[in-house]
Formats: sequence, structure tokens, C-alpha cells
Amino acid sequence: MDFTLPPEIEAIAETARRFAEAEILPQIGAYEASGEFPHAIIEKMGATGLFGASFPENLGGTDAGFLAVAVISEEISRIAPEFGYAMNMQAMTCPFTIYNWGTDDQISRFVPDLIAGRRIGMFALTEPGGGSDAAGAMQTTALRDGDVYRLNGSKQWITFAHACDTGILFAKTDLDAGHRGITAFIVEPKAHDGFTANPIAMSGLSNVLCSNAVFLDDFVVPVENRLGGEGEGFKIAMNALEYGRLTVAARSVGLAQACFEESVRYANERVIRGQPIGHYQMVQHLIADMAVNVDAARVLVHRTGWLMDRGEPSSRATSRAKYAAVEAAKHAAASAAEIFAGYALADEYPIKKFTAYVNMLAVGEGTPNVQRILIAEDALGIKNANRHPVRNRLRGN
Ligand SMILES: Cc1cc2nc3c(=O)[nH]c(=O)nc-3n(C[C@H](O)[C@H](O)[C@H](O)COP(=O)(O)OP(=O)(O)OC[C@H]3O[C@@H](n4cnc5c(N)ncnc54)[C@H](O)[C@@H]3O)c2cc1C
Repeated sequence: MDFTLPPEIEAIAETARRFAEAEILPQIGAYEASGEFPHAIIEKMGATGLFGASFPENLGGTDAGFLAVAVISEEISRIAPEFGYAMNMQAMTCPFTIYNWGTDDQISRFVPDLIAGRRIGMFALTEPGGGSDAAGAMQTTALRDGDVYRLNGSKQWITFAHACDTGILFAKTDLDAGHRGITAFIVEPKAHDGFTANPIAMSGLSNVLCSNAVFLDDFVVPVENRLGGEGEGFKIAMNALEYGRLTVAARSVGLAQACFEESVRYANERVIRGQPIGHYQMVQHLIADMAVNVDAARVLVHRTGWLMDRGEPSSRATSRAKYAAVEAAKHAAASAAEIFAGYALADEYPIKKFTAYVNMLAVGEGTPNVQRILIAEDALGIKNANRHPVRNRLRGN
């Protein structure tokens, strides 16, 4: 008998897999060709329950938990990596942060529409000055002006900003207080002037589900949209990266699995010198390493979801899972490229696209070096990775 997940989690993974195959794959090309944001697919993902796993039923969620978020993220990313972004913007970093830190009014105003896919989310932390030190590099200001804040500055790489209805954005309300001067805001770019999002062209990645350079010019945020207190933004952002890492790690496993499956298929089909290349030991070496790396990374991701479902400290496990999953995905993409050789570069095969998404996931929610620092400092006893409690309102802490 094999190690298996609980049957209800397997069923959720199967639902995500079927949805991606039937509802996303056949339509991706048309959206890319037209340049239209795929609102209809995002809304259907919401209606199918793919975004609501970590939310209670009274908000439209399914209360299925974080392990469910992980398996959905893996399946979506395996089949349609460009839609993996939605697992952060519609299912985790944006709505879950509002759910964790928002007032009852903010939660009921914003969370149900985000997880239903009726409104598009965003999580705007990074600035041009550098993502690895988001607090140190932050220059965007939010100055109080009566009942509103006026935001000025810029953000970089902000996914879905061009389509965003409801996002979270971090800015400094106190320029002299370092990371204690950062405040979180729920922003509504379409409701107020002063927000410009310019999609960044990136070879190999989607042109419609894309990331943006954002410019804020006296962009107005009503005071009632502040998330938490002034100065609480850094804590809120670091918490969000924690559960954001769960989805990014799971998405990386999905891509690693996709590279593995394509490689196995191709190695069995491609005949060179009278036999399939999969019969050559050097190709088998690549296949064996891929198989084990993917399995190992998946177990670490599942452990993280399991810890989060129990409401237990999970920062150590999350960093390790994200690091391992990205390493597995990078190895799998490089191995697939070697096995496909010239055909890895052809648009007809998915290896080029998988590689681009692996590179993107490597930096999302902290680069490999950032994870190495967190993991090593924890192991060496310099900084306990689990020292800060991570807020997880679904599980009561
Ligand atoms: C496609 C895409 C989508 C994204 N979406 C979003 C989004 O929606 N919202 C958002 O807020 N951000 C988003 N990001 C930003 C992402 O989080 C950052 O790219 C990431 O944090 C790294 O920041 P950086 O690219 O500025 O690299 P830098 O911080 O400039 O790092 C450059 C290199 O230096 C290394 N380095 C930095 N500090 C150290 C150190 N102390 N020790 C050792 N090495 C170090 C890094 O590991 C890296 O290798 C996105 C990025 C991409 C590419």
C-alpha cells in the first residue's frame, strides 16, 4: 500500500486537475492571442471552490484547509502554470491577509468577492530598490490627509496590478521609523485616481496573467481601508509571505512534476541509435534524480500544510519546503531541457515555458538565498525560524 493523503484531499486534487484540463488548457491560447484578462476562468475557479479552501463557509469558503490549498496549487501549476498566480492573489496572500488582520467590516466587504473570483486581487510589497530587503528598500509614502491617506511612490513586479479591483499595498506612514513605519492598506485601484500599472514584458511568461510596474501619484486610500494599525505593516507582510510560501512551494512541485512527466514521455518516445533515449544510463540518471527530488519536495510541502492545518508553528517547515521545491523544480527543468535537447527550445514543446515559470517561482516569496539564510540561521541557533507566531485565523491563532 502506498502513502496517501486523506480521501477528501485526493478528491480536491482531482477536482483541480480536471478543472485545469477541461476549463483552462483549451482556452489559454485564445486569451494570450487577444490580450484579454481571463476573468471568466478566474470566476469559474472561484465558483468551483478552488480559492476558498482556507476560508470558513460563512465567507463562501470550503474550510478544507491548507493541505487542500497545497494540492490545488500543485495541480493548477502542473497543468497551467500561468494560473498558479491566482492561487496567491485570489486564495492566499491577498484575501487571507485581509481575513487574518481585517475588521469584520473589511472581511465581509472584500474577502467573499476575492475568493469567488469576482474581484481580482494583488499583493504589492516589492519596490524597484530590491525585493530581498523589502522594508529597507521601501520609499512609497502614505501621508494622512483628513479621512484619507495619499500614497506616492512606485512598486515593481506586482502581479495582477493591471486588473486589480482589491489589493493589499504596503507604504511608509512614518519615514523615520524603519520597518516599524510600514503600514498595510486595502487598495481599490479602479475606484480612485492616481494608480497606474504597466505590464512588464517577460519572455516565456503569460502576457495577460502578468506582473507590473506600478506608479502611485497621490493615490487615495480611505482611512477605513487601513489594514491593522499604523506601523503594523511589516509584521503583516512577513506573516503573509509565510503562507504565500506554501502556495509558491506547491506550485514549484507542480512544475517539477510537469517537467518529470514530459521527460519520461519523451525519453520513452525519442529513438536515437535504434533505441529510446530512456534506455541510456545518463538519461536514466536524470530521470531517477527528478523522481526522487519531486517526491521529497512534495512531502515537505504536505508537511507544511499539515502543520498549518493544526495551527502549529510552521515557518521553519515553510522555508525548507519552498527551498526544496524550487531546487527540485530547477533541477527538473534543467534535466528536461537536457533530455529534449534542441526541442526544449521549440515553442511546440512546453519546456521553455516551464523553465520560465520555475525561474519566476524561484524568486517569489523570497529568493533561494533568502531561504538559505532563514534555514541556516535557524539551524545554527542564531535566529529561531519559529520565533514569531504566524497568524492563522482559520485555525484560531
Ligand atoms: C514574475 C514576478 C512576479 C512577482 N510578483 C510579485 C508580487 O505580486 N508582489 C510583490 O510584492 N513582489 C512580486 N515579485 C517580486 C519578488 O518577490 C522579488 O523579485 C524577490 O523578492 C527578489 O527581489 P529582487 O528581484 O529585487 O532581487 P534582489 O533583492 O535585488 O536580489 C538580487 C540577488 O541578490 C541576492 N541577495 C539579496 N540579499 C542577499 C543577502 N543578504 N545575502 C545573500 N544574497 C542576497 C538575492 O538572493 C538575489 O539572488 C515578483 C517577481 C517576479 C519576477
